[in-house]
Formats: sequence, structure tokens, C-alpha cells
Amino acid sequence: MSRGAAGSGRLVSEAPAAEWLESEAPAAEWLESQSGNRANMWLLRGSHLDLLIDAGLGLRSVPDYLKRAGLIGSRPLLAVATHVHFDHSGGLHQFEKVAVHRAEAEALVQGDNFETVTWLSDSEIVKAPEPGWTARNYSVRPVLPARVLEDGDVINLGDRQLTVLHMPGHSRGSICLHDRDQRILFSGDVVYNGSMIDWLPYSNISDYTQTCERLIELADNELVHKVFPGHFNSFGPERLHSLASSYISNVGLCHKVSTSAVRCIANLALRANNFSCT
Ligand SMILES: [Zn+2]
Ligand SMILES: [Zn+2]
Repeated sequence: MSRGAAGSGRLVSEAPAAEWLESEAPAAEWLESQSGNRANMWLLRGSHLDLLIDAGLGLRSVPDYLKRAGLIGSRPLLAVATHVHFDHSGGLHQFEKVAVHRAEAEALVQGDNFETVTWLSDSEIVKAPEPGWTARNYSVRPVLPARVLEDGDVINLGDRQLTVLHMPGHSRGSICLHDRDQRILFSGDVVYNGSMIDWLPYSNISDYTQTCERLIELADNELVHKVFPGHFNSFGPERLHSLASSYISNVGLCHKVSTSAVRCIANLALRANNFSCT
């Protein structure tokens, strides 16, 4: 299902960098990375600072698009990655100020395409950025973060604050950003409306289980009214609760054994893929 078909947003213009849709909520504006991967980017415009949550693949200039659309330019902008996987961090190099969690800062500085799990094929790209472009040559570029985040840090936009929640499991530096006042959670790949991925090189099942317990607590304490995820559509606290509790109830020995086998294969494939790119 395409986002436009969901009925919750309205396509207002086409852009080279991303499709722009009107916000579902006054709290966030939504951009979608132009690939089959469909990674979301969220733009929050504060009174003193604008915040872009995730930066897509970086195949086209997101800042140029945002400026042309009149969405940024009057205030400083910080681009924060919910984690360093390529579909969220590939566009970070286009921004002057970037933030990432401490556990993945080094991977970003090094442009470590193994940890960013860079894996892209031509068939996933809706439109090549230039003639002759091929996914084989794609990589995440090194970026020096201006800000390194820790659990509990607050990103202050002036009239709204986002608290950093370190939620490892999908990757070691995954974060959610929590707007406590509006009870909104920007969840990256920690939780979205689909199965949780815990078989990547730096995934960790026991960390993910603890993260899910924390998500359940947020839902139980009515601290989240809406989740804006890294992929697919937004959802409410009941869905958040059920996604997190099903992960916990499915983590048995069988899951652990099969996941570690898949992780070995993924490790080998990523090593081979990124070796052949360099
Ligand atoms: Zn990811
Ligand atoms: Zn992702």
C-alpha cells in the first residue's frame, strides 16, 4: 500500500529528493525516501531549531528540496539519525549539523558500510539520480557528527523538546525520540508496522527484549499517543503494545537459533558486498 493511498496524507508536490506529504498531525511533516525501501524522514520545525529525523539514502539533495519547498532556511537545522543503517544515514553528509547515538558515532565517522548494512540494488530505486548511476557504486559517506547523543539527552527545538531514548536491539545505537508533551514517539526501525529485524550484524536479541519492555511501559503509562516510525505508516499505542509484546513472546530458543544462523549469512553477504564495492 502506498502512503498516498492510506488517506491520511495529501501529496502536494513532487520533488526530486522525496515525495512531500502534508502532515497527519501538526506535530511532524513527512517525507519519503524515493526507493522501494520506503524509509521515512520526519521534519519538525521548532521556534529555534528545525529537526530532520533520518535523512534517507542520500541519492538526491534533501536540503535543496526542503529549501525550495520553503520548509527550512529560517532557523538552524539538525539532522538526527535514528540509527546508522544506510536507508536512514545515507543522506546525512548533505547536512552541516548531524547527530547520532554514541554507540554508532564511530561507524558514521568511518563510513563503515558493514555496520550501516549497505545493501542496495538497482531494482529498488524508483528513479536513478543520474544517467548511468548504479547501485553497485553506492555507499554511505563518512560524516563527523556535531552532536553525539546519549539516553536521556534532550534535543531542544525551542517550543518543543525531544528526549532521546536509547533502544538497542535492531542496531546497537538505535534511538527513539520522544515528545513527552505531545505524546509522540519517533521510533526509527526499533518498531514499525512490520516484523522486527534482529538478525543484522549488530542486532542483539536480549537488548531488543529489554527495549520492547520499555516500549510496553511507554504504552501502558499512556506516554505515547502516536508512533511515527522509520518505515510504513504511523500507528497508535495499542499497536505499539502488541508489536512489542509479540516480539517478547516469540523470543524462544528456536528463534534464537534461527536468528543466529541468519545473522551469520547476513554478515558474510554484507562483508562480500562491501568488499566488492571498495
Ligand atoms: Zn535499520
Ligand atoms: Zn530502515
